[in-house]
Amino acid sequence: MPKEQNKKFLEQINNIILDDTNKTFLIFAHQNPDGDALGSALACKLLLENFNKKVQVISIDKTPSKYKFLQNSKTIENLSKDNKISADIAMFMECSNISRSGFDEANIDVKTIINIDHHKVNDYYGYINWVDATYAAVSIMIYKIFKYMNVKISKAAAECMYTGILTDTGRFQYSNTTLDVYDIVKELVKTGVDVNAIYREIYGSRAKSYISFMRIFFNHLEFLKDDLIAISYIEQDEIDLYGISNEDSDGAVDFLRDIEGVELACFIKPKSNGNYKLSLRSKKCVSVYEAAKEFGGGGHKYAAGFEMQADSAKEVKQKILKVLLEQKLWC
Ligand code: 5GP
Ligand code: MN
Repeated sequence: MPKEQNKKFLEQINNIILDDTNKTFLIFAHQNPDGDALGSALACKLLLENFNKKVQVISIDKTPSKYKFLQNSKTIENLSKDNKISADIAMFMECSNISRSGFDEANIDVKTIINIDHHKVNDYYGYINWVDATYAAVSIMIYKIFKYMNVKISKAAAECMYTGILTDTGRFQYSNTTLDVYDIVKELVKTGVDVNAIYREIYGSRAKSYISFMRIFFNHLEFLKDDLIAISYIEQDEIDLYGISNEDSDGAVDFLRDIEGVELACFIKPKSNGNYKLSLRSKKCVSVYEAAKEFGGGGHKYAAGFEMQADSAKEVKQKILKVLLEQKLWC
């Protein structure tokens, strides 16, 4: 997206924040929030508090324990779907549509919606729709607001944005890790961010139930299409039997992608709402976003996901394989 376009969005967001009649803000993360959804939401809260706004960060799902080190993570409110929520402004962090936050539009009563996302698929449901897939993380978009509005970045805010960038660039390894990313990270780290401590919090504290998960994960692992596809899943009874948490399966699909020769990775797990969640990854040859789109999901070329209704993960596997094996998906 041309820089001029971004200036327009930054100007609009700046005006909304500086408008004294906008006193209360809601910030929504998406369901199963990741480092970027939480980091961007919490950094945005700190930004808005500089302007004496009353800010609620709202998430339908609990904060994964590995992100609880973020100083203001305790302020996140875990509300249920039926809660009626009102404020002057609602901001959505990387939500392709309102339901991606887990909440119903009918229950959110605000004057204006600001939609900030770095995914390709987005329903443009806001009054402002700053959607730009060239950003590696939404946390970078929040950083841009800090800069545009000339707000000093505190260490706490820097930690939030650093976390979003670290996790969404796969620890600075994905192709979205541009020079710009390093420039921004340098500025954030200069505020005193302890990168080693954050590394240990996010990646270096595995639960024992994670090992139980990995056993099952490898048991169910299957290679197809001359080993180009790696697919695995977990069923609800296995989760219950071993006390496996949502966090234990985080990154499982990335593990499959990282196998030599694998071009397309897929992992399926049950969700608390009774649906199944599919995570898709690819290396070069396949746009997994095209596959996810067919099922009403979204994401990026190399990382996408969606939900499906079914009786078992095994059944989901059969359904998705039909699409993944289609020749048109492959280059
Ligand atoms: P993950 O597999 O890590 O949950 O998600 C990979 C990518 O796909 C992320 O960029 C995420 O935002 C997107 N994604 C995952 N699940 C969904 C979904 O149900 N709907 C949409 N629109 N995007 C999703
Ligand atoms: Mn993100």
